[in-house]
Amino acid sequence: MNHQFDLIVVGAGSGGYAAARVGRELGASVALVDQGPLGGLCILRGCMPSKTLIATGDAAYEVRHADELGVHAGEPTIDFAAVMARKREIIGGFTDYRVAGIETFPLFRGEASFESPHKLRVGDDVLEGKAFVVATGSTIAPAVFPGLAEVGYIESDEALELAAPPKSLVVLGGGYVGSELGQFYARIGVPTTIVIRSNQLLTDEDTDIGEGLTEYFRAEGIAVETHARVTRVSRGEDGLKVVHYTQDGVEKTVAAHEIFYALGRVPAVAGLNLEAADVTYHAMTGIAIDDTLRTSQQHIFAVGDVTGRFALVHIAIQQGELAARNAVHGTQERADYSLSKTHTVFSDPQVAIAGETEKELHRAGTPYLVASYPFNDHGKAISVGKTKGFVKMMAAPSDGRILGAAILGPNGSDLIHEMIVALHYRATVFDFVTIPHLHPTLAEIWTYPAEELVEKIVAERPLAIAR
Ligand SMILES: Cc1cc2nc3c(=O)[nH]c(=O)nc-3n(C[C@H](O)[C@H](O)[C@H](O)COP(=O)(O)OP(=O)(O)OC[C@H]3O[C@@H](n4cnc5c(N)ncnc54)[C@H](O)[C@@H]3O)c2cc1C
Repeated sequence: MNHQFDLIVVGAGSGGYAAARVGRELGASVALVDQGPLGGLCILRGCMPSKTLIATGDAAYEVRHADELGVHAGEPTIDFAAVMARKREIIGGFTDYRVAGIETFPLFRGEASFESPHKLRVGDDVLEGKAFVVATGSTIAPAVFPGLAEVGYIESDEALELAAPPKSLVVLGGGYVGSELGQFYARIGVPTTIVIRSNQLLTDEDTDIGEGLTEYFRAEGIAVETHARVTRVSRGEDGLKVVHYTQDGVEKTVAAHEIFYALGRVPAVAGLNLEAADVTYHAMTGIAIDDTLRTSQQHIFAVGDVTGRFALVHIAIQQGELAARNAVHGTQERADYSLSKTHTVFSDPQVAIAGETEKELHRAGTPYLVASYPFNDHGKAISVGKTKGFVKMMAAPSDGRILGAAILGPNGSDLIHEMIVALHYRATVFDFVTIPHLHPTLAEIWTYPAEELVEKIVAERPLAIAR
């Protein structure tokens, strides 16, 4: 059957759903296409299930360390079946809610494949669109190490769905997925080793953040093998899975009952037949887009993980909304990621970054001043026994404008929002120190680096900065 729409959105995950919602609000006739399962990665196998499990790992850790607060609870018992049942129930609720939203659109269920720049086939249906938004997300990156496929491994989908925890675990990869879920399994009692090529977990983050997190992981008993180049995987005589790697020129092995392959995802472009639509893409880096989110075809947009650049829900949504506006109005509105590239990692301590990192400032040759403050010297943090980590703030030496902020510490994913607001309003450290902060709170820790930066700037440029 043939159908015609103003806007056809392929993929009903976070990015696609946002595009469809805004397209309809703007008065366009909109169809959604999804091969299922409906709900999107974030709800089904990403952000939400992982955070649900992490809450259990953190609770187990708190119980183990409650002695410090005078609560003697002993070693906690983990009811893994109950943990997974809780996760399934929570995710079921989120999924039902989202699916109900998806089903308010004309929905075509099946794998979408372009037949021409304006025609898309879904099973027996042919959809003709004035504009398209492709939001097909990503799939697990193929296993690259010799022997790994033969020996067998789990990836994040399975790590979120196991029937029983492995007796021991090797995690390949120290990005946010490997760090978050590796720490979860370690905290529920699974001896865990994380094997990474770089010198720190979260390799793209500033060294003080990444190395700091690495040290905290080690301190709680998670082995982190850095500078480790995996060469192959084999099956030991005892049945364990053995990862072979070289570290500083020395051949080493680590064996475990299970291997968690956490080395990233690749854009989901297979099957879309983008050639028929004349859309430029690369199997590893995804669909090429410009700042208006247009592909090489002016009426075909791409958003979210399939564009290969960011893998963050709030950016998929930002892109989906913007693509819908540009598609429906034919406008040239451009995406600006300077603030939205803000991100967080739900490890403990948490990591959160707003604005520029020191690495980015160095790379761009931007002059900056930096000040940091540790939680182990902060009254509220000491009172509640949350003393891991630090905050730091970067500011322009010329006028004190805040350029970026980072936190490795308790509640980082929430505390960073104050800095996001400050950056949004282009605040200076001079503005920041006039903002009242409640006492005693974790949030007031931001005032210390801000005050130090004010002092530094005034010391360097007393006349220019006088206010
Ligand atoms: C373990 C894990 C934890 C994560 N945690 C976080 C987090 O804490 N915070 C955060 O911001 N991000 C997190 N992410 C990343 C986040 O989940 C993704 O960036 C986001 O969900 C991508 O949304 P999307 O709309 O691009 O794609 P998706 O949500 O993947 O949607 C793609 C949709 O397209 C459909 N589809 C694919 N191909 C076709 C086709 N050919 N035809 C029809 N339909 C098709 C799929 O069925 C799917 O519904 C996490 C990811 C993982 C794996």
